[in-house]
Amino acid sequence: MEFDPELDAVNVMTVHGAKGLEFPVVFMVNLVADRFPTRSRSDAIEVPTGLIRETLPRGDWHLEEERRLFYVGATRAKNLLYFSWSRDVGGARVKKISPFVLEALDKAKSAADLIKLSPLEKIEKFAPPPPRQTQQVMFDVDVLKLTQGSIDDYLTCAYKYRYIHILRVPIMRHHAIAYGAALHSAVGAYLNSKKNGRPLTLAQTLEVFENAWDSEGFLTVEHEEKRKAAGKLAIEKFWKRESKDPKLPTLIESKFNFSLKEVTIVGRFDRVDIEPGSKVHIIDYKSSENMDQEKANAQAKESNQLAIYALYYWKRHKILPQKLTLHFLETGIEGSYTPTQKDLDKAEKLILDTAENIRADTKNNHFPANPKYFGREPACVYCAYNSICPFSLAKI
Ligand code: SF4
Repeated sequence: MEFDPELDAVNVMTVHGAKGLEFPVVFMVNLVADRFPTRSRSDAIEVPTGLIRETLPRGDWHLEEERRLFYVGATRAKNLLYFSWSRDVGGARVKKISPFVLEALDKAKSAADLIKLSPLEKIEKFAPPPPRQTQQVMFDVDVLKLTQGSIDDYLTCAYKYRYIHILRVPIMRHHAIAYGAALHSAVGAYLNSKKNGRPLTLAQTLEVFENAWDSEGFLTVEHEEKRKAAGKLAIEKFWKRESKDPKLPTLIESKFNFSLKEVTIVGRFDRVDIEPGSKVHIIDYKSSENMDQEKANAQAKESNQLAIYALYYWKRHKILPQKLTLHFLETGIEGSYTPTQKDLDKAEKLILDTAENIRADTKNNHFPANPKYFGREPACVYCAYNSICPFSLAKI
């Protein structure tokens, strides 16, 4: 029988079948380990990685896909959501609760594990309690490796950091990321060619942009076409400005890393210009829309990313950059400032405090949902996890 959304009845369906639907009450049943998530079965004929065009996800792909599916099921509920499982689902073995249920409820261990104990388990029950089980820690918290992105994720919302860096819940790429990535590819290619003395023509730079374009995440064909046209225009304006500017970049898309106590910070510069007298100018290209000079200056001054670049330069080269700039590609507007030692101290404190908080949250297995506000809007509005997050403040 076909599903009828108007019919006031119980609908029995798979999670796949429920995609895009919503119900006042949802029962997710049979949530036992080995059934949800199912065991990973490898393909009968393994395809060599080199032949796969898509960017393969990192980590346990099967587990991540199953987790995503679990959250799809859980977020079908408008008012009430029930998780159901049983130790006995037929078969010889006693079943354990699905780890996804424990994750969703922020529980490290199931209380139900304590019922129906074997005689040996009953004796063990009186043994001294084992150290508290914590969430699977996916990195060594003593030496923490942070990127500028992960620091920003944590500062935006600790719960979001948990989704991305601890649970690694895969999400569809947001169209703004695809747009920014294509712009950065074209800008990087042009700057490299300019540095090497054979600057690309406008047509060649646009070709790089076209080739780097990825349709993932765009809402409709019209939306994609509109963004692509805006991107081409931004590249054209950038090309015209840059081809008239005699200044040559020193570093382009250059990786860096440095350590502060037990924290390693890794990142990448978009562009660094070093002029005679060690005058360092660090530029970060942005693809955000609707920018004016005042906003650009304010964003540059508040940018943790720029401050971390400057801190790297100081720690590694003992040079305080002369200028830090956010360059907005669509308008050509630049927001800049000259960092002081006080700015660097502030950036160092921010990194160390963030690392300490991440360590504490990881050890306590508790990442609070504390979305930052952008003006009056909570970060949830822009968060890729807002449709699965139980604490989301976004009206979806
Ligand atoms: S939806 Fe909001 S509360 Fe949930 S992870 Fe995202 S920012 Fe945090």
